[in-house]
Amino acid sequence: MSMFCHQCQETMKNTGCSMKQGMCGKSAEVANLQDLFIWCLKGISVWGHKAKKFDLYDNEAGFFIDKGLFATITNANFDRTAFIELIKESIAIRDRVKDSFLQAHKNKNGSDFSLSVPECATWIPNNEDDIKAKADSGAGGWLEIENEDERSLKATILYGLKGMSAYAEHAYQINKSCKEVFEFLMEALAALVDESKSQDELFDLVIKTGEMGVKTMAILDEANTTAYGTPEITQVNIGVGKNPGILITGHDLVDLEELLEQTKDQGVDVYTHSEMLPAHYYPKLKQYSHLYGNYGNAWWHQKEDIANFNGPMLFTSNCLVPPVKVDYKDKLFTTGAVGFEGLPHIPDRAEGGKKDFSTIIEMAKECAPPKEIETGQITGGFAHSQVLALADKVIEANYDGTSDKGFNVVAATITANPDITHWIVTAPNDEGAQGATRALEQAGIGQHGRTTVYRCRPLASGLGIRLVSLSLFFFWPC
Ligand code: SF4
Repeated sequence: MSMFCHQCQETMKNTGCSMKQGMCGKSAEVANLQDLFIWCLKGISVWGHKAKKFDLYDNEAGFFIDKGLFATITNANFDRTAFIELIKESIAIRDRVKDSFLQAHKNKNGSDFSLSVPECATWIPNNEDDIKAKADSGAGGWLEIENEDERSLKATILYGLKGMSAYAEHAYQINKSCKEVFEFLMEALAALVDESKSQDELFDLVIKTGEMGVKTMAILDEANTTAYGTPEITQVNIGVGKNPGILITGHDLVDLEELLEQTKDQGVDVYTHSEMLPAHYYPKLKQYSHLYGNYGNAWWHQKEDIANFNGPMLFTSNCLVPPVKVDYKDKLFTTGAVGFEGLPHIPDRAEGGKKDFSTIIEMAKECAPPKEIETGQITGGFAHSQVLALADKVIEANYDGTSDKGFNVVAATITANPDITHWIVTAPNDEGAQGATRALEQAGIGQHGRTTVYRCRPLASGLGIRLVSLSLFFFWPC
């Protein structure tokens, strides 16, 4: 059995994972089931988008599509059984949406709907063998699209929708309303199986997908800040305490809040890992004294970090490295969009209820405290409101894109501002960032000095915008 997936930067030879297993550990069987599942989501969307013309909206179907797309992002869900169940559920939801549309059509027009629809809108598997056979046939996979330009446009749209669905899912857990986003998901997925769409129309949809992605980020920002306050610049402990701990990653702040509530006064501390680090910057979450700190390194470093942590770990939305040939597998838990065959999955909360993390908490109580792997603090929380609050302190400096000129302008800026000892420097290319770092170190500010230096490169090399922004440094005194 083979697969073809080119959805992330880990992909083989920068072209596509096409063997028995992807670079992320996703098997060909799961990859093909994910393709088939997305094809089924397109089937729901065909009817859902048509139903919109009759002012019909099925929120449950919208949220199902959203959660389903989310489950197919990289390093989220490797569970073949989960995808088979999702495919079955998608057929039932599709037929409900379809029936509702057909009835509305008949009521309005006095006759049955008779236009043709894509196969994904009507396919009915008789059993699991049918599902597996359809998945193995490559249904819904990219290689069904022969024209590379068309494939590229459609892939850009779908990957945009997947990212959007992740943001929307987190927002929905808080505000319980994402109708505009869910309707757009249906519109765009239906367009991906509409043979009449020209490449110009698909290009327009790429742009619209980007616009809706930005809008969805704003919806999530609003949901998070309304629920947890505006992120603040915060020192985060990277050492360890004496209590046993639970490590939590992903982006689901509601999961974290419920875990913090349930671990209160239990003698168990909660540590974030990698993707969950920004939780420390939210005022409401940082009030929990047992949100002890952040443990370990980036997501891809998790095997070493989990082994050292000693306690259990909860994956809330993604970033799972398949736990094969490891000793800690029995300490891992998944929830939300994440899944892996054999790992316990904490079920979704019932309407108005909360998730039950008691199994993880009881396990943590039996574990040793985390092993210390580093000490000190890191600083974060530079969200947009914090950046804007510092706007009048920002110093811009021109350079020509080279490391030497970058060094010169940063050195001059430091000399001209002797009272400032903490800097955040953003540079639009690697050369500028290197020059800035040299200047900061030479001035005694940096890794050997009395202060901390932050460096980031906001614009990827190779983007067109680089040409117009290459010559600017931004210095953020803090
Ligand atoms: S998601 Fe996995 S299988 Fe797909 S391109 Fe990325 S590494 Fe390869």
